[in-house]
Amino acid sequence: MSRLVVVSNRVAPVEEGKQAAGGLAVAVLAALKRTGGIWFGWSGTVVDGDTPQTPASAVHGRLTYTMLDLGRRDFEEYYNGFANQTLWPLFHFRPGLTSISRRNRAGYERVNGFFAAVLAPMLKPDDMVWVHDYHLIPCGRKLRALGCRQRMGFFLHTPFPAPEVLKILPNHRDLVEDLCAYDVVGFHTAADLRCFVNYVLLDAGGMVDPHPDGGVVVRAFGRTLLARAFPISIDTAALERTAETNARSRHAERLRESLVGRRLIIGVDRLDYSKGLPQRFEAFEAFLESYPEHRNRVSFLQIAPPTREEVPEYITLRRELSEKAGRVNGRFAEFDWVPIRYLNKSFGQRVLAGFHRQAAVGLVTPMRDGMNLVAKEYVACQNPQDPGVLVLSEFAGAAQELTEALIVNPYEVEGVADALQRALTMPVEERRERHAALIATLRRNDIGAWRETYVRALTKAPYQ
Ligand code: UDP
Repeated sequence: MSRLVVVSNRVAPVEEGKQAAGGLAVAVLAALKRTGGIWFGWSGTVVDGDTPQTPASAVHGRLTYTMLDLGRRDFEEYYNGFANQTLWPLFHFRPGLTSISRRNRAGYERVNGFFAAVLAPMLKPDDMVWVHDYHLIPCGRKLRALGCRQRMGFFLHTPFPAPEVLKILPNHRDLVEDLCAYDVVGFHTAADLRCFVNYVLLDAGGMVDPHPDGGVVVRAFGRTLLARAFPISIDTAALERTAETNARSRHAERLRESLVGRRLIIGVDRLDYSKGLPQRFEAFEAFLESYPEHRNRVSFLQIAPPTREEVPEYITLRRELSEKAGRVNGRFAEFDWVPIRYLNKSFGQRVLAGFHRQAAVGLVTPMRDGMNLVAKEYVACQNPQDPGVLVLSEFAGAAQELTEALIVNPYEVEGVADALQRALTMPVEERRERHAALIATLRRNDIGAWRETYVRALTKAPYQ
């Protein structure tokens, strides 16, 4: 079996016996444990001065973590700059928030080149290289330029934008040519794949043919590759068990007691403008306004751990949300009831599972999201006999699979308010029926299926 080499922006070593956080870490670790290999990327540490040239490695059985620190300037230009102030907003269809800077773009190219230069000598001829996410799109082409002929795959964890949006980037053509240097390019959904194919056909003069296993064979920039949707998922069975065992955990009990019989609506998101949090607070306000019978009977718990705190848009968003939550609470709170419990901190998976299980509604309303694992996690945590209802944005990748959720347009706050009312008054038979269909999908398409389908496609490279 070929060795797997995973390259991602962050490498997160997991201590023995502990659970990995996040879908990517779980999937990557499971794949690496099976085949043995290397997990290569940034350590998360920023050092003063230049980026140090030598990586640190830690060996855990057949798995080697190889980590690089970043110098302050590389961190600013590559990570805060091009990745998070250019590609992230643009890939989430937010041109208004996208900053275009040659300096940041040069930093992005430089760090990708540096990653490739450090990784190339570590590769063996039969290795399979699997690069993850928007931070590292050019890495594969840079490896190829150094003479690496290994099978190489890329997976994009964000949406892929429509060509007209992508073309706001001055280097859009380079970026698509970078993607074509891989043997397999994976997206979350058929819609993302379509956007990529449209660019290849209409702007890159390429050709595509359906592949019998799914996806399309792309011919462009003198390369042949497979492009396909591989919707990422969760470890469904493990999370179902976790939720059952944590239904009565200490945290879950504390939450239950604090609700004193009120129903719970839950939202769990990184504090990010793609998640639609201001509109969500407005929708909850509209719900309390339109359906006054729920006042003092429902609590909305929004967990929103801050991220990317060095990027200005995130600072503005945090201020805006605090104001909005304060306004709604000031308007509707009673001496014994606070409508929105808004928390800027993160919780572990076990605690979240116990919270999700108690919530009558999972409110997941991003303006645009590659997949949204929280939507899937909420479903997996429900008690099948008395399940809650998922209210899900049509602009989350998860909506393509989770069609039995209540699908909403997050831009229309009255529509979301109506969906909350419908979810809270839905008869138990309908809730069970919807949940049974959703959980069947998630059991079939779990994280193991995602990993296996992707790795199988990469094993079959090169494509002709
Ligand atoms: N998460 C967590 N603790 C928190 C908030 C979020 O562990 O306090 C996890 C959440 O359970 C999910 C992941 O972070 O597994 C977020 O993934 P998602 O795809 O929903 O969004 P992303 O943050 O990748 O945009």
